[in-house]
Amino acid sequence: MNGARRLVQVSKGIKILATIGPASISPEVVREMIRNGVSGFRINMAFGNPETWSSYVKNIREASVELDTVVSIIADIPGPQVRTGEFQVIEVKKGDIVYLTRAEQDKQSGEVVEIPVHPEQVFDVLEPGDTILYGDGEVELSVLEVSNDRARCLVKNHGVLKPGKKIVVLGKELPTGFLSDRDVELVKYSCSENLSYIALSYVRSELDVQFVRDLLTQFNCDVGIISKIETPSGVRNAGRIADLSDAILIARGDLGVHFPIEDIPLLQEQITRISVEKNKPVIVATDILDSMIENNRPSRSDVVGLYNIVHSLADAILLTNETAIGKYPVEAVKWARIIADTAYKNTPPVLIEQSRKTIKPTTLLEKYVQGLVYLAESLDGVILVYTKTGRTPPLISKLRPRTRVYVGSWNRKLLEKYTIYYGVNTVDLSSKLTEQDDYEKGVEELYVKTRDQGYLKPGDVVIKSYAKRGVNVHEIRVEVVI
Ligand code: PGA
Ligand code: MN
Repeated sequence: MNGARRLVQVSKGIKILATIGPASISPEVVREMIRNGVSGFRINMAFGNPETWSSYVKNIREASVELDTVVSIIADIPGPQVRTGEFQVIEVKKGDIVYLTRAEQDKQSGEVVEIPVHPEQVFDVLEPGDTILYGDGEVELSVLEVSNDRARCLVKNHGVLKPGKKIVVLGKELPTGFLSDRDVELVKYSCSENLSYIALSYVRSELDVQFVRDLLTQFNCDVGIISKIETPSGVRNAGRIADLSDAILIARGDLGVHFPIEDIPLLQEQITRISVEKNKPVIVATDILDSMIENNRPSRSDVVGLYNIVHSLADAILLTNETAIGKYPVEAVKWARIIADTAYKNTPPVLIEQSRKTIKPTTLLEKYVQGLVYLAESLDGVILVYTKTGRTPPLISKLRPRTRVYVGSWNRKLLEKYTIYYGVNTVDLSSKLTEQDDYEKGVEELYVKTRDQGYLKPGDVVIKSYAKRGVNVHEIRVEVVI
C-alpha cells in the first residue's frame, strides 16, 4: 500500500482553523477546506440556530470520516455583547440622527431610523455623551439623549448600518453576569453535541473562566475552554485568564474596536508571549486574509501579515469572514496553507533557538522529549508518538519542531484537542485500538496507518517514540521505511 494518495494536506507548524458560515454551508466546501489543511472549525453562535449548527456539525463530521482525519469543532459563545436586531440596511451620513430601541418588533417608521438592540440591559448603562462603535467600528455614534427604551444618537461619519451587527459602548461593560441564559444553553448544546472546544467571547477576568469551568463540571462535560482576549479588561488579566484556560485566542476584530488600531501589533505580540509563558496554545484570529472575502488572491499586505504570524510561532490562525461569508472560502484556505508553508520553510533558526531557551525541562519526560526532537531534527526524520493520556504531544509542540510529527491515539476526543496545537499532526486509531492496548501496539498501528495513507515513503527515516505512562523507561527506535 506504499505511495497511497494523501487525502489531506498537512500544514507544517502552524494550524489553520476556519469559521463555518453561509459561505461554507455545503458539504463539498467543508470537505475541500479540510482537504486543503483546515484542522478545526469554529461555529459563531452569535448567528444561526441549533438546526443550522447541527447541520454544520454533521457536514464536518461526515467529511472528517470520509477523509479519515481528525477535525475539531469549536463553539463560539457570544457572551456579554450587544447586537442589533432585524431592520432594513440603511446608509447614514455625518449629522444624521438614529434611535436605538429596546423592542425587536419596532420598524423603521417615516423619517425616524430605529435600530433595535439587545440585550435590553444596555439601556441601563447608556448615558448622553457615550460613544458607540458600530460593527467592527465602521460607524461611530454619539449618544445625545436616553429614555427608558430609546437612545437618540448622532451619526459621526458616513457608513452603512446593517442588521445583526455588534455594537460597542466604549468603556462600558454590561451590568449582566458573564453568560446569559441563552449562552448557558449554548454551552449545554456544545456538551450534548460532544464538541471539542468552546470559545468564550469577551472574557473579563479569570472569574469568568472559573464560572464556566464550574458549569462544565456541573454538566459533566470535557469540552476545552478557549478564552478570547478582546477588551481592555481581558488584556489586563490575560495571564490569569490563560492560567485557567486550555487555549487563548487573540480576537483582533474586537481588539481593534476597543484599542487604537495601531496598537494591534503590540497587543498581538504581548498576548502571544503571555500564552507561550503560560504554556497554552495561542490562536490569532480575524482579518488574516481579509482581502480574500472579495478576491480569489490575497493582497500583498495580507501575505506579509500571515507570514509574520507564522514567524511569531503562534499555534494556529483562525479565518473568520473569509470562510464564513467570503466569496472564496476554499481558495482562502489554500492560500493560507501556501503562505504558512513558505513561512515555515523560511523560519529564521534564531527564532526557534530563542523560543527554546525559555523552556527549562525538569522531569525525565520533558528531558526525553527534548532529546527526541533534537534527534529527529538531526536525522531529518519523522516522529511517531502514541499517546494514551496526552502528556507527550504538548511537550513536543512547545518545542516548535522543525520536523514532521504524527501523534496517534485510541482516544479521538483527545486528538481533537491537538488540532489547535503547533506542529503535531493527529492520527485517529480509535477503530483499531482501545485504552488497554500497549504503546508498542499503538506505535505500530500509527506507523502502518501513516504509511498506508502516503505520509511515509520508502527511504523516510522514522523515529518511533515509546514514552510510556507510569514507567520510568522511555524508548526511541530509529528505522528507515522500506
Ligand atoms: P468575533 O471574534 O468574530 O466573535 O467577534 C473575533 C474577533 O473579535 O476578532
Ligand atoms: Mn470578537
